[in-house]
Amino acid sequence: MAKQIIGAGGGHGGIAAAHLLAKRGYDVTVYERHTRENMGYDWTDIFDKKGFFAAEMDLPAPDKFCLKQDMTFIGPGETIKLQQHTEPDKLEIQMERKAIYDHLIENAERSGVRFVFNCEVEAPIMLGSRVAGIQTAQGAVYADLVIDACGISSPLRTKLPAYLGVQNEVQQYEQFYVYRAFFNKACETKEDKFKVQLLREGKLGISWVAAEEEHTDVLIGRFEPFDLAEVERSVASLRKDNPAIGTEIVRGGQFVHIPVRQPLGVLVADGYAAIGDSAFMTVPIIGSGIANSLKAAKLLCGAVTADAEGAYSAYTLWKYQCDFYKEIGANLAPLACVKLLLTRLEPADLDYIFETGILNADDMTIDADSTSLAAMFSGMTMDDLKTKAGGLVKNVGVLKKILRLGKEIGVATAVTAAMPKTYDPDKVLRWVKSYNACFKH
Ligand SMILES: Cc1cc2nc3c(=O)[nH]c(=O)nc-3n(C[C@H](O)[C@H](O)[C@H](O)COP(=O)(O)OP(=O)(O)OC[C@H]3O[C@@H](n4cnc5c(N)ncnc54)[C@H](O)[C@@H]3O)c2cc1C
Repeated sequence: MAKQIIGAGGGHGGIAAAHLLAKRGYDVTVYERHTRENMGYDWTDIFDKKGFFAAEMDLPAPDKFCLKQDMTFIGPGETIKLQQHTEPDKLEIQMERKAIYDHLIENAERSGVRFVFNCEVEAPIMLGSRVAGIQTAQGAVYADLVIDACGISSPLRTKLPAYLGVQNEVQQYEQFYVYRAFFNKACETKEDKFKVQLLREGKLGISWVAAEEEHTDVLIGRFEPFDLAEVERSVASLRKDNPAIGTEIVRGGQFVHIPVRQPLGVLVADGYAAIGDSAFMTVPIIGSGIANSLKAAKLLCGAVTADAEGAYSAYTLWKYQCDFYKEIGANLAPLACVKLLLTRLEPADLDYIFETGILNADDMTIDADSTSLAAMFSGMTMDDLKTKAGGLVKNVGVLKKILRLGKEIGVATAVTAAMPKTYDPDKVLRWVKSYNACFKH
């Protein structure tokens, strides 16, 4: 009989893993809290199309996506603009969230995945230290393996016993509180169609205003929760500089959370594997998580199929942990340190960094292949280096923060590389403690 696999929550990586495993003959059922029509948000996403290829899916029809626009980054004092200039073949794609779900679910259903919609997952069912199934609002379901794709607040990850080493809760500065809405377009925008402003009005976070054909996309993200009154105040302030933002919300208009932190230290337990936002696979400084989730699905599928006995223990699933950290996680960990730097910068520091070229438009041109710090700075010339160093030595406050960042990146990189190569509970617990300690604010 085929091994039974549960996809808990219809996260992108979970559906992609379900698709890959069903294709290989596993019996996979996904339990999702929303109805099929209500899955996903009423807005668009930007991501690397190679995610689809990793998940063994074709690209959707050409009318379902377009290429992303270059962004213009603006510092808090609005003294300088850094405009991206991405090479066309490295541009990420932009696609409606609901169309992404259509594509993933159609592929998964064709491979034989069953979906149970409108079904709340409540908790893991533990048999000793093994996750043996899930408790849902409709009853208990048992399986050989549970794939946790319930997102950042997963009721599985948050309820796993602490002794498994799977971190339950997100800490301060590890998630972004976001409000996003599409407003009617009040006028045409001729230049800087996608403006991203950092630390606007001295608030710790970002806002973006993107002029689209039919609407103006506004996103406000902060490291602290905020309310509708603050949204209205911020949007009114943004409208003064961006007259294209109309007064009517035509789509979206919702508060959401995005993980912006290092990937989950321990991704697996006996009978359990976390993927996507449940495992914090977003790029910590920009919050993109779709492509990484799809790429992780392929790695998880590799570990499951390699386990010929079908034990799906932490020991056999450790292959997924190692492959994920080798391919993706080891690059995300240093970026989590960069995110920490952003939380420590004063607005004047950031203006200085932009004005003196410590960060320039090339550095901010984050494309589909910018998956690591090394890739982001790969085009740096000797002249760039001199400019950056010159700027740093003239500002001791900024220099100290950058030196601290350099040290933190070095430690995080070394600790991540020291992850145990095989699963030994004591060694893994010791390692994850030191890994998590690398990212303290
Ligand atoms: C405003 C915003 C903008 C973003 N923009 C981008 C972008 O442009 N590009 C990009 O790559 N990423 C973007 N992201 C991040 C991206 O959404 C995630 O990183 C990515 O979707 C992976 O998360 P996930 O699918 O694992 O989790 P989620 O998207 O959170 O999906 C989890 C799924 O599980 C279901 N679920 C949750 N709890 C339960 C439960 N108890 N029972 C049953 N089902 C449950 C949910 O309904 C949902 O379907 C954005 C996120 C936000 C919030």
